[in-house]
Amino acid sequence: MTQPRFDNSYARLPDRFFARQAPTPVRAPRLIALNRPLAERLGLDPDWLASEDGVAMLAGNTLPEGAEPIAQAYAGHQFGGFVPQLGDGRAVMIGEVVAPDGARFDLQLKGSGPTPFSRRGDGRAWLGPVLREYLMSAAFAGLGLPTTQALAAVATGERVVRDGFARPGAVLTRVAASHVRVGTFQYFSARGDIDALRTLCNLMISRHYPEADGPLSLLEAVVAAQARLIAGWMAMGFIHGVMNTDNMAISGETIDFGPCAFLDAYHPRKVFSSIDTQGRYAYGNQPQIALWNLAQFASCLLPLIGEGEAAVEEASAVLDGFIPIYQGEWLRRFGAKIGLAAATEADLPLIESLLERMASEGADFTRSFRGLSTGRARDEFTDPAAFDTWAPGWQARLGPAAEAQAIMAAANPIRIPRNHRIEQAIEAAVGEDFAPFERLMVALADPFAENPDWADLEIGPWPEERVARTFCGT
Ligand code: AMP
Ligand code: MG
Repeated sequence: MTQPRFDNSYARLPDRFFARQAPTPVRAPRLIALNRPLAERLGLDPDWLASEDGVAMLAGNTLPEGAEPIAQAYAGHQFGGFVPQLGDGRAVMIGEVVAPDGARFDLQLKGSGPTPFSRRGDGRAWLGPVLREYLMSAAFAGLGLPTTQALAAVATGERVVRDGFARPGAVLTRVAASHVRVGTFQYFSARGDIDALRTLCNLMISRHYPEADGPLSLLEAVVAAQARLIAGWMAMGFIHGVMNTDNMAISGETIDFGPCAFLDAYHPRKVFSSIDTQGRYAYGNQPQIALWNLAQFASCLLPLIGEGEAAVEEASAVLDGFIPIYQGEWLRRFGAKIGLAAATEADLPLIESLLERMASEGADFTRSFRGLSTGRARDEFTDPAAFDTWAPGWQARLGPAAEAQAIMAAANPIRIPRNHRIEQAIEAAVGEDFAPFERLMVALADPFAENPDWADLEIGPWPEERVARTFCGT
């Protein structure tokens, strides 16, 4: 098998769902990274992808047979303000690949040139954000969280200007269960296009939630998927950074790794994104924001659910399910993080007390939880007494030691893609040294396994390495 086989269901939808747009060729494509296991998962031949023909496709220079490149239309609330038209402004979907097991995936080239939705931007991406997304999405896969994935990163041999600097250009191949977002529904809702909403609703049911039997049960499925996803982010100390409605996928996958970051020192109000000046998307706000986004989704579905007040009440009742599902999943995950197989609400004060102490003592989120099973957690607290006065209550609650150890080892990663390491890997890559990037990729593939070779990746930043701000940087 060489070229991918496509079956482009989205491109068969009516014209108003997208603009037909080919990628713009680049000067000198060069493969930087290829996710071989993912290629195989998709039924693609990794050796062909790494060949000249494969790299030409990944750069957008040639289109394989059966590709139908499109830029998708969508709208979205950005930081709470509604923008009726956003759309793929620097990406095109080249087609849908059907894997050997029948699963369907979008192949999207990000940074592939201007589209009718570009408006101000150049449609390109630079190496920094491309490598960041590649690393972050690979780390997510290692952590077992639902995510879009990067199949490849290609350098373009061209420069793009960002913040007054000429940066090396790059294209990322993103693989997603689908790219339909809350903002896709909002695009048609804002236009009063009920037919399109019905089409999207049916598409999402058949593609992601075949057990759903209509708009209300689609809403219910998406609410549950997002509640579980956000609890997973919280348990890994992840801050998405731009939870706009156009960055919330209906599939329940994490999408759009922009100014995202993993926590170093834990604090619920922590923000990294340079553009999030109000702290709207702070770590601790993420569940409420997800629910707010889902309420926007629900309001798009109202005309399909039914008439007037009755529809509103039905949708509201489904939205009310978010918090209990989220809290249940949060409790299960954080219970496991402290070694409990079946935490109950009675364990909440114990978990919350640890988090409060971590916040006031500047404790590193990842190291403190992992340190519970190695006896080193107390070293993470500025004042270890804050840990020492918590620990007896915890130890009294723990079951058999070996069992608790195993639960904690599976719930608490050792390695996360720390901001300063990502920055260092990008800086080296700009200077044509890809070794730090490749080393990080290997180390993050199995983040729960002890490996002394990567001890340096376990520790937080020294003061001079600390990354205070992350940037969209597109
Ligand atoms: P994001 O911040 O990735 O969610 O993007 C928000 C919107 O801005 C989307 O419609 C993007 O397509 C668009 N956009 C971001 N960067 C660029 C760029 N370099 N050129 C054109 N459009 C862009
Ligand atoms: Mg986006």
